[in-house]
Amino acid sequence: FDALADFDPEISGVVLDELDRLRGGLQLIASENFTSPAVLAALGSTLSNKYAEGYPGRRYYGGCEVVDRAEEIGIARGKELFGAEHVNLQPHSGASANLAAYGAFLQPGDTLLGMALPHGGHLTHGTKVSFSGKWFNAVQYGVDETTEHIDYDQVRDLAREHRPKLIVAGGSAIPRLIDFAAFREIADEVGAIFMVDAAHFIGLVAGKAIPSPVPYADVVTFTTHKVLRGPRGGAIVCKAEHAKAIDKSAFPMMQGGPLMHAIAAKAVNLKECLQPEYQTYARQVITNAQALTEGLAAEGLRPVAGGTDTHLALLDLRQVTDTAGELVTGKVAEARCDAAGIVLNKNAIPFDPQPASVASGVRVGSPSVTTQGMVESDMKSIASLIGTAIRDADGSRTADVAAGVRELVGAHPAYPHPAPPNAHP
Ligand code: PLP
Repeated sequence: FDALADFDPEISGVVLDELDRLRGGLQLIASENFTSPAVLAALGSTLSNKYAEGYPGRRYYGGCEVVDRAEEIGIARGKELFGAEHVNLQPHSGASANLAAYGAFLQPGDTLLGMALPHGGHLTHGTKVSFSGKWFNAVQYGVDETTEHIDYDQVRDLAREHRPKLIVAGGSAIPRLIDFAAFREIADEVGAIFMVDAAHFIGLVAGKAIPSPVPYADVVTFTTHKVLRGPRGGAIVCKAEHAKAIDKSAFPMMQGGPLMHAIAAKAVNLKECLQPEYQTYARQVITNAQALTEGLAAEGLRPVAGGTDTHLALLDLRQVTDTAGELVTGKVAEARCDAAGIVLNKNAIPFDPQPASVASGVRVGSPSVTTQGMVESDMKSIASLIGTAIRDADGSRTADVAAGVRELVGAHPAYPHPAPPNAHP
């Protein structure tokens, strides 16, 4: 870091300011976390220099014998952790992992059945603005309007009607467990590949806190930076029969040279996931999410689908009025929380009457605060702070809420010791 600070004070200032921002507020974005100093050290290493197109032992460049070891170790750890037949650690991101998985099984114009974004799915599951909706015939399922759980009858009906080549389960705002066996049965009935995008919850699977999709799915894609707590990136796990197709699709079809520093960092993270304390962390992530959800329900924010089994909750604000008597939207709630140092995001709820840019909901997640060591009683405090912040029409309570935030993060500092490689001295 000294080299950066000496040469480029502007950018080193950005790095330090971001660390201060992370430490100074409550980070409740469900897809974020604080990765470890060990992972950060691998990310900031000279492995970034190496071109290594291909796979270990089968590269298109010389001098890959050292970086090969990182990828081999990472793959072996991934196989052990997930009981997987095949692991590919090369996708640069979650979207790239999904692109590679689709590329292995689909041709342009083929039919893909995925969850609609406004119901909790992801952009890459068939949304019109994404390659997944532009290049494929994307059919979308959602949740039942009453239960707000995935509507498996609708999934089956759409599968029978449209005969998709691939069915994808998973998403970005699904608080409840997914019935992988039900999806497998539907996929088998129509002869579809069954893919699970486990980006959000793979860390809970790694920590053995929720059931694994790996035995059910042909292919599981995920990001490595959410609950899992690794570096920003993607990965794919699949059955041995699909290994060749997946590897060829990740490289050379969709990507060029792999990011060897990121792959090494993924390997470090997978070692962390194999430690017994990781399972304690994963269970606490869920316990905290449930405590936070109960606290927010007590503040009048209705949990979509009645609560959470995972690391995130989606809260319906349509019954919430502020101190000026106005209804609170997701956009307003996000801004009021932000002003007090509580970082969360507005989120569409299923059947949302508001446009996505306004939204009737907010999404909260417990991974970051759990990594900081917070527990259920802290979640109750956070819920109360959020309840105050979102109703505070004139900003008269912002300073009080901000003081409450400082107290919580002061008692559970992010990146305490050892400091990460880029910390303030
Ligand atoms: N899949 C799901 C379910 C996600 O939630 C996300 C990101 O939030 C992605 C894929 C895309 O990951 P990335 O942003 O790394 O491309």
